[in-house]
Amino acid sequence: MKLVILDRDGTLNPLGDDYITSADEWTAVPGALEAVARLNHAGWHVVVATNQPGLGRGLFDVMALNAIHTKMHRQVAAVGGRIDAVFYCPHAADEDCSCRKPSPGLLEQIRDRYGVERQDVQVVGSCAVHLHAGAALGAQLHLVCTGQSAPLQPGSDLPAGLPPGTQVHASLGDFVDQLLPVVLASATPVPGQASVSAPTPTTGTVIV
Ligand SMILES: [Zn+2]
Repeated sequence: MKLVILDRDGTLNPLGDDYITSADEWTAVPGALEAVARLNHAGWHVVVATNQPGLGRGLFDVMALNAIHTKMHRQVAAVGGRIDAVFYCPHAADEDCSCRKPSPGLLEQIRDRYGVERQDVQVVGSCAVHLHAGAALGAQLHLVCTGQSAPLQPGSDLPAGLPPGTQVHASLGDFVDQLLPVVLASATPVPGQASVSAPTPTTGTVIV
């Protein structure tokens, strides 16, 4: 089983000034959903783990969150990909739960569901709390330079506040480039240009 645990805000959708409270406000980071599809086609399961304290604070309800994720699932499916599930912490910071990242509870739930060895889980996101949850899990850590990490770039020193061993990638697509083995196209390869086969549209039930 190959498992990637993604963050949502700042990684799949841009960070706004405030919580995303409705599906209308949800848009994808350019290229991020296509990167999910490429993972899927290489046999990786993709699951999202996200803190949604706006629920606990009453800023939106579960129906609104489900509508946001339905839109996200549809857009991923439209580019031939699939997010298996979205695990979220609904608690506000002062509720002292074990699932709010950087606590590893949410990621532990996902790992238990899939039965993957800790060190084989790829935890990918753009914010420190997601990566600290991944570090507590014992996973492989990958920072993508979108969202709150947009000022960073690969090759520079790992900023303070990120777990040691975190690998830095310019984008989710660049992470996928590194993760997946290079497969040369069998038919008429174009020199200097990687060839990627068109993704097969995924249909079927989306598990939320
Ligand atoms: Zn929680």
